[in-house]
Amino acid sequence: MHLYNDRTILGTIASINTRRILLLALIAIPFSTSFIIMFSLSPSSDTNELTWRVGIIICHAMLISMMLVLGSLSLLLRNRSQAYLPKRILTCFAATVVLTIGVAIVYFDQLVTASITPFMVACIVTSTVLILRPLVSALLFSITFIAYAVMISYTQTDQAILLSNRVNGLTIAAVAGLLSVIFWRATVTDLKNKQVIMDQQKKLEMLAFYDQLTGICNRHKIEEVLREELLISKEKRQACAVIMVDIDHFKPFNDANGHLAGDQVLIRVAQTLDTIAQKSGGLTGRFGGEEFLITLGNTSEDAAVTVAHQMREETEALHIENNGVGKYLTISLGVTATKADVASDAEQLIHEADRSLYKAKDRGRNLVVQYSDLVHGLKHEP
Ligand code: GH3
Ligand code: MG
Ligand code: MG
Repeated sequence: MHLYNDRTILGTIASINTRRILLLALIAIPFSTSFIIMFSLSPSSDTNELTWRVGIIICHAMLISMMLVLGSLSLLLRNRSQAYLPKRILTCFAATVVLTIGVAIVYFDQLVTASITPFMVACIVTSTVLILRPLVSALLFSITFIAYAVMISYTQTDQAILLSNRVNGLTIAAVAGLLSVIFWRATVTDLKNKQVIMDQQKKLEMLAFYDQLTGICNRHKIEEVLREELLISKEKRQACAVIMVDIDHFKPFNDANGHLAGDQVLIRVAQTLDTIAQKSGGLTGRFGGEEFLITLGNTSEDAAVTVAHQMREETEALHIENNGVGKYLTISLGVTATKADVASDAEQLIHEADRSLYKAKDRGRNLVVQYSDLVHGLKHEP
């Protein structure tokens, strides 16, 4: 017997069953109502037939009330992803209701007919609509068959028909149990495959969109994010800012400490920048070797300068020694933002931030330069 214990898959199966129970209730209620009407309208010729008619009406009335309870409970539990156990109990409850009513209807049917169709319908509906654990379905169908075999002996007086119905009933219960196991295994395999595909998709996404060393966005992704931010800012008539960052004197750091130590520094600087960026609603990407690009939606150039200063200060405060050049490792930053009435695209903004960054390098490094000051300065330079 296949016992499966992956919580995610079992949780998904419980949720599927909860939705199916709601569907079952929605289908069963109108059907049972119409059966009650049909049975109430046609007249009875003898007491046996009257007992049968009343019995069937009671069975369908019970089914309707149970389906109302089951439907309401499934509606309640439908959106609760954590309610795994209640959903499992609900599934067993639903299966028990369907099978019990199936047996009860056949019990009354034997008063007037040899047919055991309702028992077959109940077994097939339970095994195909509900996804039951093999152990649960084995127990359910065994108990149901025993109850059925005992119950019909009270209303079916013809011994040959009784034997035939018991044999047919056993076959139906066995087929239903088999179907149940087949559906369970197919569902588990399907969900497992979906899980593998999703894991692979995540891995591919990581490779396609994230920098392998630092874990932040790669250049392709951050440029895409910038283009999206620009569209949003255009639509909402907001400013969108960009910060370009370059580690100062990183080559001498690598030369003195080795590339592996350099890699660790890149990780720490990337995380420092990204933490600050995310707090300001932005995102950081690795633009080149030791260069980073930060996008800040709904942010003016002046507000982005404040963020840039914080980045500069916190990087210096990491106290990464960069002997021979300065005391601690520092960064230079260039800041720009979209201006009202000027249509800037991503390339334009990156270019402006880059020019500002190079100005910061020119002016001695460990500095923030904003593009509007740069333009202003250029206008006044001879
Ligand atoms: P500046 O202040 O002008 O930016 O000086 P710099 O030395 O930082 O600039 P330069 O462009 O001369 O050198 C950049 C260095 O960044 C060169 C290379 O050793 C280092 N670098 C780039 N990518 C990586 C990387 O993935 N790992 C490590 N460890 N170093 C890298
Ligand atoms: Mg560089
Ligand atoms: Mg550099």
